[in-house]
Amino acid sequence: MSSSEVTEAAGATAEVDTSAAGSVRVEHVTHRYGRGGEEFTAVGPVDLSVPAGEFLVLVGASGCGKSTLLRLIAGFERPTRGAVRVSGAEPRPGEAAGVVFQTPRLFPWRTVRGNIDLALRYAGVSRAQWPERRAELLARVGLEGTERRRVWEISGGQQQRVAIARALAAENPLLLLDEPFAALDALTRERLQEDVRRVTRRTGRTAVFVTHSADEAVFLGSRIVVLTKSPGTVALDLPIPLPRDDVDAEELRGSREFAELRAQVSHAVKAAAAA
Ligand code: ADP
Ligand code: MG
Repeated sequence: MSSSEVTEAAGATAEVDTSAAGSVRVEHVTHRYGRGGEEFTAVGPVDLSVPAGEFLVLVGASGCGKSTLLRLIAGFERPTRGAVRVSGAEPRPGEAAGVVFQTPRLFPWRTVRGNIDLALRYAGVSRAQWPERRAELLARVGLEGTERRRVWEISGGQQQRVAIARALAAENPLLLLDEPFAALDALTRERLQEDVRRVTRRTGRTAVFVTHSADEAVFLGSRIVVLTKSPGTVALDLPIPLPRDDVDAEELRGSREFAELRAQVSHAVKAAAAA
């Protein structure tokens, strides 16, 4: 049985199909930057299995290697040691996953439509299908009616929505998000968290989301992995047993279970950063 294995997550044993579309496997991965005397270990060793459909949140102090791990999963970098598999294969940059960064990285002089169309073209969608796909993507992220506006004319929150729509354009089963809401105001951040939660649920995508916020982690994650300080290794692997379908966001955020999990994660992050 090479395509499946047994992983231990917080005492629970689960069968993980590591060849399923959208699944991620990080196998004994260590990553170093630099050469010779200047070598620096940023991550590892890390072992992680993310089954298809999971919403995994990586939490840890600044500099612990979260972005490095995400870049390895995206295929932007190759691990110094060990192996990364996405949907059962070595990840190819631009193909393995849709990626959303902290800053939206859009073309500011283009319209919203222009930015989305570029993503559709890159994803190989035939031009005849663009209008329908574009409308569908913009509706998914709550941007109906903004097609003709230029990126510099819309708010930071809207720009990040365009970036999310763009990442969804390729219909990739895996979505990687690196602190995408860190630069936004609290209200916008909460709205976008709700949108991302809904979009990933509806589309069945696997997500790996990086944040340093325990609050954000508990709200979004079906599972949270806390990393130790540099070089990042797994300090805590915690399933989040909160309801995920048809929940009222305010009710969830105000619940006792939510507060308890947030306190637990927050404590673990501080302990891991100090260890
Ligand atoms: P995080 O996202 O958790 O803040 P990073 O993955 O960005 O952490 O960085 C982990 C460590 O690796 C940091 O000490 C950072 O300075 C270092 N680092 C990141 N990218 C590079 C790079 N391209 N070259 C050298 N060092 C790097
Ligand atoms: Mg980072």
